[in-house]
Amino acid sequence: MFMVSIDADQCEGCGECVDACPAAILEMVDGKAAVTGSETDCMGCETCVVSCPTGAATIQEL
Ligand code: SF4
Ligand code: SF4
Repeated sequence: MFMVSIDADQCEGCGECVDACPAAILEMVDGKAAVTGSETDCMGCETCVVSCPTGAATIQEL
């Protein structure tokens, strides 16, 4: 399974990852992206990683 992490300090709140995630597990919370859906729904597609301009979104395969 995959685990997605958003580094709130690096997130500039552009919303790109939220719009791009095909599993719809990311949402904006207080101006930052956050994982609000089930992490087990993450398919490891790396779309969030690629779409993030600041490198705040990372995924890890467990
Ligand atoms: S890796 Fe893909 S499915 Fe997982 S959170 Fe990022 S965009 Fe969504
Ligand atoms: S793409 Fe990166 S900077 Fe933009 S909201 Fe997502 S984590 Fe934050």
